[in-house]
Amino acid sequence: MILLDPNHLDRSYPDERSSEIMRKTVEFFEAKGKTKLLADYYDRPWYSDFLEFVRKERIFASMCTPAGEGAPDARWDTWRNCEFAEILGFYGLQYWYTWQVSVLGLGPIWMSENDALRDRASKALEDGGIFAFGLSEKTHGADIYSTDMVLTPNDKGDGWVANGRKYYIGNGNDAAIVSTFGRFEDGDEYVFFAADAKHPNYHLVQNVVASQSYVSEFELRDYPVREEDILHRGRKAWDAALNTVNVGKYNLGWASIGICTHALYEAITHANNRVLYGMRVTEMSHVRRMFVEGYARLVAMKLFALRASDYMRAASSDDRRYLLYNPMVKMKTTTQGETVMNLLWDAIAAKGFEKDMYFSQAAVDIRGLPKLEGTVHVNIALISKFMPNYFFNPAEYPEIERQDHGRNDDFLFNQGSARGLGQIQFHDYRAAFEGVDLPNVHIFAEQTEAFRRMLETAPPGPDQMKDVDFLMAGGEIFALVVYAQLLLENAKIYELDDALLDQIFEFMVRDVSEHALQLFGQPSSNETQIECCREMMRKPDHDPDRYESVWTRHVEPLDGAYVMNA
Ligand SMILES: Cc1cc2nc3c(=O)[nH]c(=O)nc-3n(C[C@H](O)[C@H](O)[C@H](O)COP(=O)(O)OP(=O)(O)OC[C@H]3O[C@@H](n4cnc5c(N)ncnc54)[C@H](O)[C@@H]3O)c2cc1C
Repeated sequence: MILLDPNHLDRSYPDERSSEIMRKTVEFFEAKGKTKLLADYYDRPWYSDFLEFVRKERIFASMCTPAGEGAPDARWDTWRNCEFAEILGFYGLQYWYTWQVSVLGLGPIWMSENDALRDRASKALEDGGIFAFGLSEKTHGADIYSTDMVLTPNDKGDGWVANGRKYYIGNGNDAAIVSTFGRFEDGDEYVFFAADAKHPNYHLVQNVVASQSYVSEFELRDYPVREEDILHRGRKAWDAALNTVNVGKYNLGWASIGICTHALYEAITHANNRVLYGMRVTEMSHVRRMFVEGYARLVAMKLFALRASDYMRAASSDDRRYLLYNPMVKMKTTTQGETVMNLLWDAIAAKGFEKDMYFSQAAVDIRGLPKLEGTVHVNIALISKFMPNYFFNPAEYPEIERQDHGRNDDFLFNQGSARGLGQIQFHDYRAAFEGVDLPNVHIFAEQTEAFRRMLETAPPGPDQMKDVDFLMAGGEIFALVVYAQLLLENAKIYELDDALLDQIFEFMVRDVSEHALQLFGQPSSNETQIECCREMMRKPDHDPDRYESVWTRHVEPLDGAYVMNA
């Protein structure tokens, strides 16, 4: 089965330690039990029980220390990070968050040439420490160019004092190291430095959110910074910020997958056993459709994110295709997660509000993921840069197989300059469609060709390029093509059932049609663009036998398949 089932963890790992981490993490949550898990969610105590488990079992030490920097079992391995993120999301976004912001906080450290700080981080991980990524500020949002965290030379001339505030910084209450972004007063150069949350000049102001997670506001007042606290300066500090987000944003998709999977188990187990008017609720055609579509969308999310992991792990300075697929996991997978939750919630209605259902927290938490580490708009604007080369200037690359080996992902901490996105080339997406003889895949391929024709014959003009709404509509169609490509590649690798694959492409065809309608309706769309949009609006193929087989073979068996320990 492709979805996570905590009672049957069957993902293959080359080493026992990786399997042990997943198993023990599941055991921790199952032993905690659903009653306490949900009570903590609503009462919002700091999750010290989870962090104590992490310390005792050296979980973050094994998972978050690159090979060679710590114990022999430590490595940075995206293949196992995926499942770990999925498990944490499955039990609660707050647990995922403390890990996620540790990942972000560690990014600038592992990318740094400061050996002493790397050593300190490695020891702190062994001691059960967590980390923080101090980038955002209250007044500047996504505009990190305008940072007001300023380092001024100190009186002695042997260092600096930092002054400024940071806002929305996860783990800022308890982090062993807070990787903090700012600038030097003289020369306007950017800097990343290590701050100590226990230092008297580090003032914790508040938790900005009402949640178990601590999303801090903190202030540095004449905080002393010495040369040995500096992680990066100048262009390297900027690159470290962006390259860290490149690594971290991928995990948001997995939180979404974990959340939806747990919610799906609860939803189907409720709805399939609820009898109204003498029949199961799932016998009502619209409810069954919600489950079949929700399931198909969730499987697609997972297949896509898994395939993106292959490209992340295989990345090098000659192969930077992951820079398209990563933001897609962040943006596309998380928005698909919202769609899945909408479908499930419509199916179970009032049940989704109950305080003893994981679902009620899932319904809230799923909404945050598309908005953090760059909104959907920011990520669409980012991926649009890749569109010309993706469609019109493909390159040959060696075939990338499933990357499930137990090795360290060295390149992620050595990504180099964050520039030159427009020069990155991709393998020809059309190869993924070859040999797939399924009605909805054919229709999707025709829609894709109509989009390509539009880009060729009537590309966005200069004013349209500045119009974010126009770019969004086009960017969403582009994102669907990339999504389809990686899905098809992975459907082969995972030998996905044809009926399920065609069911997935049924909603993909509808999604292209919807976005084509958006593009069609843009105030500035011209005649040729409108004509291409008309060609993109297509009716999917509906095969009742295929649909029923997906229900009976894939979806209905999830009824009662997993129920969390009370
Ligand atoms: C729960 C939570 C946890 C967080 N954890 C951390 C953390 O640990 N560390 C950290 O540093 N930050 C963290 N953040 C900050 C988060 O990443 C911010 O959302 C980010 O700084 C952007 O700021 P903003 O959300 O205020 O949006 P703004 O930057 O104010 O954006 C406003 C609007 O402008 C649009 N926009 C902005 N730039 C562009 C662009 N280039 N192209 C197109 N549209 C654009 C956006 O889409 C948005 O609609 C966290 C936030 C929250 C809520």
